[in-house]
Amino acid sequence: MLSLRGVTAHYGPSQALFGMSLDIAPGQVVTLLGRNGMGKTTTIHALMGIVAATGGSITLDGQELIGQPSFRIANLGLGLVPEGRQIFPNLTLMENLVATASNHLGRADPWTVDRVMALFPELADRAGSMGSLLSGGEQQMLAIGRALMTNPRLLILDEATEGLAPLIRQKIWAALGAIRDEGLSILVVDKNLSDLLRLADRHYIVRRGQVAWQGSSAELLADDGLRDGLLGV
Ligand code: ATP
Repeated sequence: MLSLRGVTAHYGPSQALFGMSLDIAPGQVVTLLGRNGMGKTTTIHALMGIVAATGGSITLDGQELIGQPSFRIANLGLGLVPEGRQIFPNLTLMENLVATASNHLGRADPWTVDRVMALFPELADRAGSMGSLLSGGEQQMLAIGRALMTNPRLLILDEATEGLAPLIRQKIWAALGAIRDEGLSILVVDKNLSDLLRLADRHYIVRRGQVAWQGSSAELLADDGLRDGLLGV
């Protein structure tokens, strides 16, 4: 469904991606792993058109995404839960949820406010609260709900559970598991390897802007040296 081939990206004169290649099939859950500063966020930003890729190819069902504006890429079915959540502080939770809602792909059973509230029941009581007054956990659940309300084909999470309490993290992993079980493709960056091993089918370890290793959860679990060497966990 989604394919990156030899993607390069730069920040001014400094190169951040040195030929990233990866594939995501329909219904697949894929992780991007790697130490800080290796290029995970840049890969996601290149995908979304937030950072302009300077070379290579990014295709969604054969359609080239490089060069397209972010809003069009979102309309084609890529839903981003950004690092830092980026909740609108002066809108209520409900307003945040519906602000960017859409169904550009004409999904027969679209995400609704009720479905998001069923996925994250703790959001219902906070519907009228301003974004700025929500806890980090509430903001992250809202950010996931907001992305789902765009009815994406691929949900992309950059740091899915960073800075959240263990109980909240568990709720988010459970929700992502439920979304996966419904057949939605997910690309996720996070530091909690054990949760990622349970959730995902395939893992890509990113090192210096390219893929240093790729494989299944079983392969990654079996290789202590790989985890120590490339992940430092
Ligand atoms: P982290 O887990 O710390 O977010 P990451 O794997 O997501 O790390 P990136 O944020 O993609 O890594 O960074 C890749 C490289 O690009 C790093 O060397 C980083 O310093 C550089 N970089 C990232 N953002 C910028 C920017 N806005 N301007 C210049 N260099 C940047």
